[in-house]
Amino acid sequence: MEISCKKTNCVHNKNNHCAAKEILVGSDLDCKTFKIDSSKPSPATNMLKRSLYEIGEIEKNFVEKDNIDVACNAKHCVFNKEGVCSANGISILSGKKKSAFCATSIKK
Ligand code: SF4
Repeated sequence: MEISCKKTNCVHNKNNHCAAKEILVGSDLDCKTFKIDSSKPSPATNMLKRSLYEIGEIEKNFVEKDNIDVACNAKHCVFNKEGVCSANGISILSGKKKSAFCATSIKK
């Protein structure tokens, strides 16, 4: 599964992609695998600092296939199949304060 992620100050984030082997999305849709890397700029600051080279890297990475397992506790989501996400790919967005949340979830 491919995971696009805007939480650029997470230790697992590489060019707006998740590089973790597996993640857990909670019942509140928050990514429970998120771990802050204080050496990385916050998502808002990062947007301002992007160079054209970095944007090219993001586009290149977007077509690469990730192989990440997504465990999910959001039982209300149509993609949740017995605790595992069955979507082809998901988008994780940067939430308020320190959270990162799944924006792909659709209510049954
Ligand atoms: S916030 Fe979650 S989805 Fe995003 S890079 Fe970190 S672990 Fe991966």
